[in-house]
Amino acid sequence: MHIDAHTHLDFFKENIEKAIEDINENEILTLANSMDIESYIKNKGYSKQSKFIKPCFGIHPWKAAEYKGSLENLISYIEESEIIGEIGLDYVWVEDISTYEAQRRIFNFILEESIKRNKYVSIHTKGAEEEIYNALKRNNYNKAIIHWYSGEISTLEKYIKLGCYFTVSVDIGYCDKANEVLDKIPLSKLLIETDGPTALEWVNGEYGYPSAIIDVAKKVSDYKKIELDDLLRSIEENYLKIIN
Ligand SMILES: [Zn+2]
Repeated sequence: MHIDAHTHLDFFKENIEKAIEDINENEILTLANSMDIESYIKNKGYSKQSKFIKPCFGIHPWKAAEYKGSLENLISYIEESEIIGEIGLDYVWVEDISTYEAQRRIFNFILEESIKRNKYVSIHTKGAEEEIYNALKRNNYNKAIIHWYSGEISTLEKYIKLGCYFTVSVDIGYCDKANEVLDKIPLSKLLIETDGPTALEWVNGEYGYPSAIIDVAKKVSDYKKIELDDLLRSIEENYLKIIN
């Protein structure tokens, strides 16, 4: 059994049917993260085509400034969604600093409402690693899946101490930073992900169908020098702790 703990199925656009077929054929349990409400509704639709797809509601930091509704309107989605994602802050890829206030407003609201409901949150921390760590720490909350971490190792160590989970992504085997992060993450907190078709494309030019997760697992198993089956079992155990 494969588990893709963070992807974006709506990014497949016209290739979505092929992507869902790939998920079903390879039996890939998939946490389908959302960018906004529209994206969440699409993910809920895809989940009707596959028992392996779990739609997750979130508003991505890239979409935060576009959200014009009231924060209260988000509560029903948070309540409905078993796992929350993608939420977070991005001070690197988002250069327009005028969006940062909106990012913080949405992130802090969804995080607080998720904490009240004891839900796991999948978090994008780009350039905001310390700020997000502080938000979790302040609430003494570790039900977080830190997605594709690429910040300072000293901050990573703080997240590890807090007891968060982490996803390693498609750049494993291509990027020293990914190896350095993987070195630190305890096996008992490790998950893997593909982050949609464009993430692998960004890394090596290949369009990333869901089964790219199999290659991520192999690369992690080679790098960690653990048997692939042992790694997959460990990832499954971690995932089960999250959904219980
Ligand atoms: Zn993502």
